[in-house]
Amino acid sequence: MTEPLVVLKDVNKHFGDLHVLKDIQMEIGKGEVVVVIGPSGSGKSTLCRAINRLETIESGTITIDGNKLPEEGKELAQLRADVGMVFQSFNLFAHKTILDNITLGPIKVRKQKKDAAEKRGMELLERVGVAQQAQKFPAQLSGGQQQRVAIARSLAMEPKVMLFDEPTSALDPEMINEVLDVMVGLAKEGMTMIVVTHEMGFARKAANRVVFMDGGQIVEENTPEEFFTNPKSDRAKDFLAKIL
Ligand code: ADP
Ligand code: MG
Repeated sequence: MTEPLVVLKDVNKHFGDLHVLKDIQMEIGKGEVVVVIGPSGSGKSTLCRAINRLETIESGTITIDGNKLPEEGKELAQLRADVGMVFQSFNLFAHKTILDNITLGPIKVRKQKKDAAEKRGMELLERVGVAQQAQKFPAQLSGGQQQRVAIARSLAMEPKVMLFDEPTSALDPEMINEVLDVMVGLAKEGMTMIVVTHEMGFARKAANRVVFMDGGQIVEENTPEEFFTNPKSDRAKDFLAKIL
């Protein structure tokens, strides 16, 4: 069997006295889509940030495509570029055009030529349905459009895995589906994805597996069908009773 693309072994992390990640074990195969779900404060964002090394961990290992995440330096920048991340807030550069937002990383980090980066950038904007906005600035776009640009910007770096941390929770309801549709498309094309979301429709449509976290632990994991219709733990049952 080939090594999974993302492997977490015995990962632990504290914030002061708070044990925020407790012996996390996770394996994500190439092309697999994993939805992470759980109450606020359960450690979902910290988990994503640890995978991207925006947070350090105290013990355990995180491996991306066979490479153990290094602590710092150039190698880290390279490895981080292998992991795309989309946050709740879109974090686009306000004073740059949409196209410049997309090409900045490829030019600076991936050392692409400007015209090649722009050609690819336009293809990606096309794919997420905002090519017509290429010369506009972020504030001129709706939240849903900005989040689709943020996805395109991550894709421009040709990541091996994409992390999404509640990508639709800051959006007005009518814009949620346009973002989820792009994500479903990516999943169907075989992108490896870790998605923190409470959007059950997305989980059922696109996820191979749901991981339920509570109190810094992975409490249970299952197929979306099983998890949503037949949760095993009391904690998952309580949580689902609140969100459904
Ligand atoms: P979730 O994304 O599941 O809501 P988080 O990973 O954001 O959970 O947070 C898990 C816990 O860690 C929470 O109790 C939160 O308050 C705490 N926490 C998160 N980031 C920090 C930080 N930088 N410093 C101290 N505590 C933090
Ligand atoms: Mg969070």
